[in-house]
Amino acid sequence: MSPTCKCCGKPVTKDETAATKKLINRGATEYLCIPCLARHFDVAEEAIRERIAYFKAMGCTLFE
Ligand SMILES: [Zn+2]
Repeated sequence: MSPTCKCCGKPVTKDETAATKKLINRGATEYLCIPCLARHFDVAEEAIRERIAYFKAMGCTLFE
């Protein structure tokens, strides 16, 4: 069963599960989608997407 956002219940992508681990808790077993991550941190969704792009550029293996 694929993971869902603990806040809104939408299916989360691999990027979103990885972003939750990087931004909130490395050992997270509950995940947030990008819009809910943005709300959690009170930032624009674009800022979360930029962080994901940054982690990918750094070669973080959590991301595909
Ligand atoms: Zn959500």
